[in-house]
Amino acid sequence: MQERERAESAARQAAAQLTAQDVRGVALTWVDNAGISRVKAVPTSRLAHAARRGVGASPCFDVYLVDDSAVTSRHIGGPDGDLRLFPDLDRLTVLAAQPGWAWAPVDRYEQHGVPYAACQRQFARRMADAATARGLRLRMGFETEWVVMHANGHEPPRYGCSGPAYGMTRVVELSDYLRDVLDALTAQQVEVLQIHPEYSPGQFEVSVAPSDPVGAADLSVLVRETVRAVSRRHDLDVSFAPVVEPGGVGNGAHLHLSLWRDERNLCRGGDGPYGMTDECESFLAGVLRELPALLALGAPTPASYLRLEPSRWAGVYRCWGLEAREAALRFVTGAPDDTGAANAEVKCFDAAANPYLVTGAVIAAGLAGLDDGLRLPPPAAGDPAVTGGQERLPTSLAEALEHFERSELLRRALGDPLFEAIAAVRAGEVKLFEGLAPKDVAAATRRRY
Ligand code: GLU
Ligand code: MG
Repeated sequence: MQERERAESAARQAAAQLTAQDVRGVALTWVDNAGISRVKAVPTSRLAHAARRGVGASPCFDVYLVDDSAVTSRHIGGPDGDLRLFPDLDRLTVLAAQPGWAWAPVDRYEQHGVPYAACQRQFARRMADAATARGLRLRMGFETEWVVMHANGHEPPRYGCSGPAYGMTRVVELSDYLRDVLDALTAQQVEVLQIHPEYSPGQFEVSVAPSDPVGAADLSVLVRETVRAVSRRHDLDVSFAPVVEPGGVGNGAHLHLSLWRDERNLCRGGDGPYGMTDECESFLAGVLRELPALLALGAPTPASYLRLEPSRWAGVYRCWGLEAREAALRFVTGAPDDTGAANAEVKCFDAAANPYLVTGAVIAAGLAGLDDGLRLPPPAAGDPAVTGGQERLPTSLAEALEHFERSELLRRALGDPLFEAIAAVRAGEVKLFEGLAPKDVAAATRRRY
């Protein structure tokens, strides 16, 4: 409890600073198993109380589906029970595009103070700690892709710009908007690496500097909500959904990762493929082995499989390769004198995923690869849709769910309550969208994420 008292006093100081900056409310978020960021907000004057006692919230959200309907699972579900949300004050951020607001992610605890078994953020931290226990450290970062549409909910959507893919025209068309996205992220101390138009109509991407696994997941929430808030101020609607309309390139949320021992990046300077170390190779081979099951976390909704089509750079084949954009796992070496640059990118994931589940589960899979001393298969090149010879990842959520349910590794890592709640949510979404035409699945989800 001493820890809580310390947090209370830190929160009191933080609240005084927030008040001086005219911040009236603090949004406290977590991400549910369907990938929706849920929130409780407190007035700035209650932040210290929240840090000491937590804020109440039902555990039922862990079995919510993307349409806000609920299922049940063995350990979680139903109207009873209450949790306490504790803000992580180290991440407290004044929101640049929501004047008067600040934000912090939360860890969720039981009433009597023990960690809540299905807290996804603490799961990610446990997995990061498991790596630390072996003297390993992960650096991770999510790319954020989104599509801008005219506001007012036009159906079908009208895109917020008309310039070509990767075209400077789009930067000219939405010059003030993109500047405001950059300004807001910078004001929030988020280090932006790149921002650019993407392939699909109205699509953009921003990438930010890597951080520790929990930090990367926090950032993916903060970046997304910042983009959303700036979009609203420019009268634009935004979609982070896997697809806005089926039949084209969708929104991915690729996960970049590098493995470190002390100050050494294990993705380079070794004797393995393209200079990776044995440890890095085993870690990546572990991720590749688990990928069909991981897809149930990283591509968690039927709409995800409308995005996961060959020849769209979504990485639908269970293979890896150097700068291979059709492989699920793309290895990047970077410049020879840029030690931090070598990394691997998991391409098949999208932003319907809970980023805490993704980072935690990828670490669990990688560490198991280390335990088993796995080696990577030969690298792939080109488009397997043309060259053939590569295994396709699951093509439906139902298929990914079968792999997930068989994964003892993920069950052990997640623990039964969280594992079973996730499985129930996945089965619920399979059923929810069963028999629906792709365009109806897209329409039902494009404004949800
Ligand atoms: N939008 C593509 C996807 O669905 C990714 C494009 C890229 O490689 O950045 O994942
Ligand atoms: Mg991209």
